[in-house]
Formats: sequence, C-alpha cells, structure tokens
Amino acid sequence: MEFRKELDPLRPYVPPKSWRMAAEGTDDKGYAKLTSNELAFGPLPEAEAALSEVMPRANRYPDSHVSRLRRAIADANLGTEPGNVLVGNGSSEVLMNALQLLPGGGEIVFPWPSFSLYPMLCAVLGMTARPVPLTKQQETPSGALLSAVTSETRAVILCNPNNPSGTYLPLSETRGLAAELPEDVLLIVDEAYVEFVEDPSYENSHTLALERDNVVVARTFSKAHGLAGFRAGYGIAAERIADYAERVRFPVSVNLAAQVAATASMLARDKVRARAEFVIRERGRLQEAFRSASLDFIPSQGNFVMVRFGADAFERDGILVREGEALGYPGWSRVTIGDSGENDRVIQTVRSSNMTMDKGA
Ligand SMILES: *Cc1c(COP(=O)(O)O)cnc(C)c1O
Repeated sequence: MEFRKELDPLRPYVPPKSWRMAAEGTDDKGYAKLTSNELAFGPLPEAEAALSEVMPRANRYPDSHVSRLRRAIADANLGTEPGNVLVGNGSSEVLMNALQLLPGGGEIVFPWPSFSLYPMLCAVLGMTARPVPLTKQQETPSGALLSAVTSETRAVILCNPNNPSGTYLPLSETRGLAAELPEDVLLIVDEAYVEFVEDPSYENSHTLALERDNVVVARTFSKAHGLAGFRAGYGIAAERIADYAERVRFPVSVNLAAQVAATASMLARDKVRARAEFVIRERGRLQEAFRSASLDFIPSQGNFVMVRFGADAFERDGILVREGEALGYPGWSRVTIGDSGENDRVIQTVRSSNMTMDKGA
C-alpha cells in the first residue's frame, strides 16, 4: 500500500502538557494552564443558556447553512452581508477551505515562526510551504513576503497578530501588501487574535476583505469568545470566495452546539469586548513585570506574550506554558494571559527568579 510521500514528515499534533494531563485524567488542579491562548473564563452565560435550550434537539441535524450565525457575524461587521461570511469547524476549517479553492500544487507563502497549522495544511493539500523569516524585531516581513511571491504562488497567509510572536502589521500596511499582490494570489489574513489588538485603526480590518476579491479574513470563537471546545470559526470575504468556500466545506461541519453558542456569544459581543479589554490590561501588567525583571520579551498584541524564561522554571511553580522550543524560540516560553490570580503567579515567579539572580551576582 503506497501513501502520498508528502505526508511522511507529518506527525500528529503534540498537544501541550495541560491537554495531555486532562486526557490522561492526571490531577491538574492547582496548575495555571497558560499553554494554548485560551480564554481563562468559560463561555458567556448567554452562550450557556442558548446551549441548554437546544440540548433536547441534539437528535436532529442542525441548520447546514448556519444561517443565524452568518447573520450575527454580518451584523457585527459593518458593511458585511451573510453572503460574505464563511463558516467552519474552527477557523482551522475556514483556512483549509480557503486553500482548497486554489488550483492544485503551487506554493503558499507565510512568515515564520507562525501557526503550525499552515505547513501542515500545505502538506495535506499537496502544496509547497514557503516560510519567510520574521524580521530581527520578530515582525512581519512584508517586503520579503512580496519578494517570495512567484508565478507558482497560490496564496500568502498572514497571521495578524502573529502567533507566537504577538507582533502585528497595521491595517494600512496589510492594505499595501494586498494592493501589491498579483490578482491571482489569495491573501489569507488569520485574525484569531484580532479582539486583542489595541490600535483603534485596526478595528474595521474586515473592510480589506470586502474591498478586494482576493482577500479572506479568518477569525475564531476559540480565543476571545472562550468557545475553543466547541469549534467554530468564520471568515469574511467577497461573495464569490464565500460561495466557493461553501462548495468544499463538509455539509454539516459546524455542529448544533457550536452554532448556537457562537451565535449567542456574537450577539453579546459587548461582553466579549469587555473580557478582551481585561486581557489587554493584564497583558500590560505581565509585560511590565517582565520588564522589571529584566527579561527579554516581545511586546504583544495577542492574548499571550513570548518571554525569554524557561518553561521548566514556570512549571516548577505550577504554571504550564507553551515551550518555546516547539515554536522556534528555544529557551523562551509563550505565556497565555490568564485570570488575575494566574497572572499574579506568573509575576511572582519571574520576580523571585530575578531576586535570586541579583543575590547570585
Ligand atoms: C488559535 C488559533 C486559531 C484558532 O483555530 P480554531 O480552529 O479556530 O480553534 C487560528 N489561527 C491561529 C494563528 C491561532 O493561534
């Protein structure tokens, strides 16, 4: 039996320790779980209520077109119609569906380090990944991205803000990049962390996708909405892209629970925004603590911060973070912003290590 050769280097996703502990039933109480950029809080009460209401109907298939959620997403993004909205089983599916629209083979350009899903999708879809290194300041190399585009390029994926660096490209620069790309190259802007961007001029970033017929903006309910467990994501794009994306999507990929929870959460988006503002404030507090402890860190616009501090040192204090080794930053950790208590613990850990170092010196 022969399998496709490009699948040989792929390995199943190695989840962070907090997921493994949960799967194995290991006692994980007492650990601060700051590995996966999840929200520290559960779903909004509105989402929980919507969910319990539909529970008795779980024997029925849900609305395969996902109409109510598309409507709620359109209403939340000025100028967007339901016909501009892509939906998926997490934004992972939205990203995959977008790539599935492109002619076979060819190359996909994206900055690196970035989200591990991109090279994986390329391999699965038989496309060639063309990673372009971030700048020295760990920023998105827009010039180098453009130079990497060839006649073989099918798409550029821009993770904005970028996971794991937390850096981001202002909207004007993303617009500039979109304007310079050849018309037959799709620009996919992965905005999983858009709710945590402070720059007010970034607010209407979806307009970029509505203005052009080769841009998709992908977003998720897994981060700011606190619904990672249900798997719902969406995209905004020209109607033609949304129409084609619907042709490749599994007919019922967004399950009933995901549909109703995500819709309720989007309708209560003022509360989501308030939670994101909390995360932004706490991010400032963490970054300030890293600065005071003289630790290198990358100023972030996501709900996480990359800091030069070992994951084992965090783990000794009961804090689980994403090991930098897995992300292209050996010796560093990616710390998700948690609740105030969890963030206090992170601050305490870096403070006391700083004091120990001072005494040693
Ligand atoms: C977390 C994350 C996502 C979200 O994926 P889902 O499938 O929606 O859970 C997408 N892109 C990036 C860069 C992420 O970090």
